[in-house]
Amino acid sequence: ASKKSGRNSATAFDQSMAQERSVDRALEKDLEFAFERNQLRMVYQPIHSVIDDSQEVEALVRWRHPELGDVPPSSFIPAAERSGLMVRLGEWIIERALADFAHWPDLHLSINLSPLQLQHDGFSGFLLDACKRHGVTPHRLFLEVTESLSIERNTRALLTLNLLRTLGFRIALDDFGTGYSSLSMVKSFKFDRMKLDRSLVMDLGQDPASVAVLEAAVTMARHVGAEVVAEGISEAHLIGATKSAGCTHLQGYYYSKPIEAGEVPGYFANAQDDLAKVA
Ligand code: C2E
Ligand code: MG
Ligand code: MG
Ligand code: MG
Repeated sequence: ASKKSGRNSATAFDQSMAQERSVDRALEKDLEFAFERNQLRMVYQPIHSVIDDSQEVEALVRWRHPELGDVPPSSFIPAAERSGLMVRLGEWIIERALADFAHWPDLHLSINLSPLQLQHDGFSGFLLDACKRHGVTPHRLFLEVTESLSIERNTRALLTLNLLRTLGFRIALDDFGTGYSSLSMVKSFKFDRMKLDRSLVMDLGQDPASVAVLEAAVTMARHVGAEVVAEGISEAHLIGATKSAGCTHLQGYYYSKPIEAGEVPGYFANAQDDLAKVA
């Protein structure tokens, strides 16, 4: 009986694997058409500086699927990477974000990059050209990279990052504190900014060890001359804790969820209130 049930569960497992794969493939296929069917858009989440009055937003992509509704980027970005669509999606994101950004001359903009974009020939050429066409200087852009595909072992991506930094773009290490390679990443590239993952921030106030980890991360960032953004500021009490640990920028639902492009100027026109919240 045990042999039989073993076989049955193996079959069930195979079936569910196959089902998952076909769901993945369906998603990949639908994503191919999402561009022309206007299902993609960019939203923008404010980032607040606690050291000066600079104003910034992070561009985040959204996909509204006709049947599935909003598909989170944590599922469709990996789908795009698997199916060979990431470079095209990445270019669409940059075009759209820079077109919006051209209307916001006083802001800074953060754009997330997939490691696959950095490995792609001609990425820096494309980015420079897009900046030129939209009248954006590289200094106003932060390029956020993650350690997910281990950039440190990827010479090509590192060369591209170095070139981009030389050209004036600023480079941020996203999701800092989540991967195995966090610490060695700090040695392998001169990042301008570290973004502390929200998992490092959310337990502050409940768990003394969280404060220790946060402070160690900030100390490390400071030693290499990088700014530190605390992500996931979802409640007021996290502001004091992250500020006193030395974070230079704060981002999270407490200030604002990601907003539509049209809402960005109004949001910062009311920035006095928001600065009062930061203070
Ligand atoms: P990320 O770059 O670390 O972006 C931060 C994510 O945390 C966003 O989720 C944002 O909406 C969410 N977030 C911000 N503040 C809070 C908070 O206070 N509480 C909680 N619970 N969440 C908060 P989103 O937009 O779903 O993006 C998830 C990830 O997908 C991003 O993480 C990034 O890795 C990727 N992604 C999103 N947009 C793009 C893009 O345009 N290009 C690429 N390559 N990746 C993207
Ligand atoms: Mg990011
Ligand atoms: Mg992040
Ligand atoms: Mg993150």
